[in-house]
Amino acid sequence: MAPIYSPPDAPWVWKNVCKVKEKLKDGFSDSIWTIHPKGYTIKSSYDWLCSDQSNVDWTALIWNNWNIPKHSLVTWLRMQDGMNMKAKLYALGCSPDDLCTICQAQTETIEHVFTNCEYVKMVKQELQHWFGGSDIQTHSLLAADRKSIKWKIRVAMFNAITYHIWLQRNNARIHYCILRPTVLVSRIVNEVRRRIQGKLRGLEEEYVSTWLRNIGVY
Ligand SMILES: [Zn+2]
Repeated sequence: MAPIYSPPDAPWVWKNVCKVKEKLKDGFSDSIWTIHPKGYTIKSSYDWLCSDQSNVDWTALIWNNWNIPKHSLVTWLRMQDGMNMKAKLYALGCSPDDLCTICQAQTETIEHVFTNCEYVKMVKQELQHWFGGSDIQTHSLLAADRKSIKWKIRVAMFNAITYHIWLQRNNARIHYCILRPTVLVSRIVNEVRRRIQGKLRGLEEEYVSTWLRNIGVY
C-alpha cells in the first residue's frame, strides 16, 4: 500500500487520521486483515490499536459518579499531565518566568501547585480538619478499600480540591487575586456536601454513620 502523508500545514485532526491509517497497515497482509479471523472490523482495529497502551491505576479516582463531572475533567487533565503550567510554558519560551502563579516562590509544576504550594497546603489542612483527619492524598486513596462510601466521599473531595485549586491558579493568572483558604474551603465543603446528600438519598439508615453526621452531611 502506498504511504499516506499529510501536508505540513494540514490540521491536527487530519494529521492524526493519516497517522492511524499508516499504523493500521501493519495489521494487513496482502490486503487481508490478519488481526481477526473474520476479517476487518472497527472493534478489532480499535482493540489492536489500544493494545500497546498501558493501564493506569487511577481511573477509579476520575470515573466515579460520586464526583462532580467538571471536577473529574480537571483531575483527568492533572493525571494526564495535560495542564500548561509555567514550567512548561517557560521551557517553550511562552512565559517570562517559571514561578508559581499563586505563591511566586517555586517553579510552577503540577506537583507543586496541587501538592507542595503553601496555599494548597493551607487548604488541605483545613479540609482534613473538617474531614476528621481522613487522608485525601492520591497514594492513600489508591491504596484504600474502594467499595466504601467513605472512600467515594474522599475521592469526591480529592477531585473538588483539584478543580478549585486549578480555578484559583487561573484566577491568579488572569485577575491577580485568589480566595482566602477559609473561603475556598467552605465553598469546596458545600459543593461536596450537596453532591453526597444527593447520592445518599434513599439509602438505608445503616449507611448514615457517625462520621457522615460529623461532617455535616446529615
Ligand atoms: Zn506555589
